[in-house]
Amino acid sequence: MEIIRTIDKMQTKSLGLLRSNKTIGLVPTMGFFHEGHLSLMKEAKKDSDIVVTSIFINPLQFGPNEDYEQYPRNEENDIKLAEQAGVDILFMPGVRDMYPRKMMIDMTINERVNVLCGRSRPGHFEGVLTVLSKLFNIILPDKTFFGMKDAQQIAVVNALIHDLNFPNELIALPTVREEDGLAKSSRNVNLSKIERNEAVWLYKALKHGQRLVVDGEKNPAIIEKEVKKIIENKTSGTVDYVELLSYPELQDVSTIDQQVILATAVFFESARLIDNLIFDTDGSLVKHIK
Ligand code: AMP
Repeated sequence: MEIIRTIDKMQTKSLGLLRSNKTIGLVPTMGFFHEGHLSLMKEAKKDSDIVVTSIFINPLQFGPNEDYEQYPRNEENDIKLAEQAGVDILFMPGVRDMYPRKMMIDMTINERVNVLCGRSRPGHFEGVLTVLSKLFNIILPDKTFFGMKDAQQIAVVNALIHDLNFPNELIALPTVREEDGLAKSSRNVNLSKIERNEAVWLYKALKHGQRLVVDGEKNPAIIEKEVKKIIENKTSGTVDYVELLSYPELQDVSTIDQQVILATAVFFESARLIDNLIFDTDGSLVKHIK
């Protein structure tokens, strides 16, 4: 596996690969790898000649009171795991290389961001789309692999690729979970032992919401209320949101008559966790989204 730390070298490499007709699969990450990240790399490997994984903790997507400094880092272990997963190139640019000065160009997102994490993290998705646009132009991927755990991110990145005509296909893959159901996340290490045990209730509560739909409930407000009640009763966390919306449009719905997302975000002492389920009108889970 080759490690590249500068934009110039990476872009030159990608242009060379493109000219020799190699397909490039990109897995963008913030590092501190777990099975969720590795599943994306392994899938990318099946589908591309060359897999590039990027590690970049993007300051632009963190708010002033968020966990940029506390975000877990372990470069040495990430290098080992990426190599084992079959990654060909690990791209780890520095902050000053990516943002040598204040950006002169800003992203504005008009839809899909006034709800869920977009509402509680103003500027977050603008930061995400900025860094991804840069990575797409540096790495020139044919396909980019994302996890459905960040379902709003997928909805917004799809809009970016469509609106700005990036010649790049988004592949969305299922959320990888711990044995008890908790979605794997780099931030899980920042949970106390008690919080870790409580955190499984995000998933269990969402599953309960989904089961209500399977049993015939169609009213989003009732489902949101029940899911919120479970998380509040079973954890010490503070619920940021529980929302049921159309997916991928992320619009309010008055009844479940189309594909929807049931999503939550919960603040624990040192970590804000998110999770979601996407399902059809009859409550059946959607495993792969387009
Ligand atoms: P991050 O490093 O948290 O920015 O995540 C990088 C990529 O890994 C994103 O596309 C995430 O959606 C994906 N990812 C994170 N956690 C999981 C998970 N538990 N299962 C599948 N994909 C994940």
